[in-house]
Amino acid sequence: MNSEGWGLQRWANHFNQMLNLANPPNRYRFDVGRLAMETTAQMFPGDPIVKVEEEDLEGFAGALVPAESRTRWGIAYGKGQSPGRRRFTIAHEFGHFLLHRKKYPNGIHSSEADVDGRTKIEVEREANEFASWLLMPLDDFRKQIAPRDKPDFDAIGNCATRYEVSLVAAVLRWLRYTERRAVFVNSIDGYVNWAWSSDAAFKSGNFIRTSRGPCGASSRIRRRAAAVHAGSPERRRSRCRSVVQSTRQRAFVPEREVRHRLHVAPSGRCGAKIVV
Ligand SMILES: [Zn+2]
Repeated sequence: MNSEGWGLQRWANHFNQMLNLANPPNRYRFDVGRLAMETTAQMFPGDPIVKVEEEDLEGFAGALVPAESRTRWGIAYGKGQSPGRRRFTIAHEFGHFLLHRKKYPNGIHSSEADVDGRTKIEVEREANEFASWLLMPLDDFRKQIAPRDKPDFDAIGNCATRYEVSLVAAVLRWLRYTERRAVFVNSIDGYVNWAWSSDAAFKSGNFIRTSRGPCGASSRIRRRAAAVHAGSPERRRSRCRSVVQSTRQRAFVPEREVRHRLHVAPSGRCGAKIVV
């Protein structure tokens, strides 16, 4: 099989088809490290992944590291990660192996921010998307929560349990395909830490700007948003009413408010009310 040039979705679909056929017990809670080692031994006998281990990574969440000979690779994940985080980290590094190891022959270290699903760095974003597709196959996720559904945290939490990932990973996965206008707000001590909008919310101007810039839409939409921001102040106000201040001037968000408005109602421009 010539897998040269496969993209992240092709890879994830390949493994999902394989898992669907094998249909192991706990189909969606499979051992990612084992999958990485067994499949790369067959597909890439010249430089397979031979080790998946916990290590003290001094602040890094995970790493893909070559042996000196460059004929074997290891995946390391940082200490103290929950089982869900650990699976995502391993899947993320597996993504680096499949997609980026030729470009980065000395390996890749991934920070916490790289693996939390919101990074803008291209290779990290690709590794995260691969991990999302691998661990939370879209066809199955859409059966749990349809694109027009309005789930609460319990429903998304059930998906997190089903796929053994963190709640945040499941929320971000859902936000990427839902047709609803929804904004996820993560706050610390009543302040917005970061937020992520569905495409529908983003298109209608419902997003929260943090220090990383407006979050949660395809680059095409981001470009359009950037163009809107570059427009006249009036236009900016009218199109982006819901944009709050950057974290430099943090918007105050009462915890209670956030908890009750994590899911933005599809009608009206409720996104503006999340944080204002
Ligand atoms: Zn990474």
